[in-house]
Amino acid sequence: MSARRRVRAKFWYRAYRSRMNEGYEPCRNRGCSRLARTFGRIVPAARGGKYVSSNLTLLCRKCNTAQDDQIWAWLQPLTAEPDFLEIAYGGSSAYCQIDTPQRLRDRHCGPA
Ligand SMILES: [Zn+2]
Repeated sequence: MSARRRVRAKFWYRAYRSRMNEGYEPCRNRGCSRLARTFGRIVPAARGGKYVSSNLTLLCRKCNTAQDDQIWAWLQPLTAEPDFLEIAYGGSSAYCQIDTPQRLRDRHCGPA
């Protein structure tokens, strides 16, 4: 099984994909306020970056295309925010609706 297929089977991958499809995830690139629609690599495939959680982040289509083969070292991998899935899916019975990038960044939305 390829690395990509293995990653796609993971809970966190499907959770992020679902949230992107619903329009709840901001692009993780600095200075960008668009919604993320794609998984992006911090180290691009052209530079040998693997399709694994420690190299994946969320990007809007524009940033993902603009990145091309550049390494964007300021991007944080998804695993750097393990508390996020906790906030969105853990503990609280109320599903946390994080509806704007700013609210996610400010962490105003959390379990009661
Ligand atoms: Zn972006």
